[in-house]
Amino acid sequence: MAAVSTVVPLAAALDCGLALCAPDGGAGPTAVRAPTAVRFGPVSARGCAASGGAAGPGPYARRVRIDLHTHSTASDGTDTPAELVRQAKAAGLDVVALTDHDTAAGWAEAAAALPAGLTLVPGTEFSCAWFGPNGARVGLHLLGYLYDPDDAELQAERRRLRESRRGRGQAIVNNLRADGIPVTWERVAELAGDGTVGRPHIGQALVEAGVVDSLDEAFADLLSSRSKYYVRKADMDVFVALRLINAAGGVTAFAHPLARRRGPVVGDEVIADMAAAGLDGIEVDHPDHSFADRAHISDVAANLGLIPLGSSDYHGRNKAVRLGACTTSPEAYADLLARNTASSPIVFTT
Ligand code: AMP
Ligand code: FE
Ligand code: FE
Ligand code: ZN
Repeated sequence: MAAVSTVVPLAAALDCGLALCAPDGGAGPTAVRAPTAVRFGPVSARGCAASGGAAGPGPYARRVRIDLHTHSTASDGTDTPAELVRQAKAAGLDVVALTDHDTAAGWAEAAAALPAGLTLVPGTEFSCAWFGPNGARVGLHLLGYLYDPDDAELQAERRRLRESRRGRGQAIVNNLRADGIPVTWERVAELAGDGTVGRPHIGQALVEAGVVDSLDEAFADLLSSRSKYYVRKADMDVFVALRLINAAGGVTAFAHPLARRRGPVVGDEVIADMAAAGLDGIEVDHPDHSFADRAHISDVAANLGLIPLGSSDYHGRNKAVRLGACTTSPEAYADLLARNTASSPIVFTT
């Protein structure tokens, strides 16, 4: 892989144009480093803690822990980006990707707060949909890593998706209010702050108002995609997203492809079409996947040459799942980095 392992000091990084300059309104520029060779011990595996899929620590080699899907307050997580990287270190992670919904706004803050020994992979979880024949449409999430945050087309798409989410959040609140459910847009907007608005923010407001006891209860009914209050957000056509992320030098992964609890999922033939359109990886181990799902997607990945990933999809206090609950093997991580083609790819390391 085109790995470079030289640290780029802040001043040099700024001089050589490698600096990351707050692409979506986050904090200021920070030191960056080019993708680095993976320097991990031999004991490792993809898997989830509960499944025992990952190898246990041996006497000499510590198990390497890589979590490539997390959310901060830049979208619908509850840790700030700085808190998230500190939590990642405390959880014993070696590599963490920050993948907030439809934004890159958290990257700079996370990079600036990166604890020693932790690597940050900047990414975004893009709101996408597959559009099939006869008006068929299935919403899905595409992870884009290591893409150029200044790519104009992708930047415009992120902005469009975020703006749509605000209007859609207001529309869901209006629907709830019309039925006498005491939730206000002002409070939801306050909870979201500068971050990408999502249903979890509405869920928090519903919990605060005493309408429900938990986010799980809110998502089981009022906020479900099958609820009468639900309003769809704008999505990128997944094939457009694959093309734009690849054109911006990034690598892609299909997030939780079999998370049926959230709504309909696409069939294997769509995954094959996505692979043919440049998809790099796919989440096999994810908290929303059953063991049968994991076995199935693992086979699909092997057949299509997709890189198999495992990730927690951590959302802080908004979800019960912990950082590192599911992890990616160093081999898969190295494969993913090797696919990156951005002219100034960035992985933040300390
Ligand atoms: P949205 O992106 O606004 O459509 O909202 C979907 C988000 O809500 C996703 O990021 C999910 O991770 C999150 N979500 C789904 N179910 C739950 C739940 N039961 N509790 C908390 N967050 C959830
Ligand atoms: Fe989320
Ligand atoms: Fe997702
Ligand atoms: Zn996610």
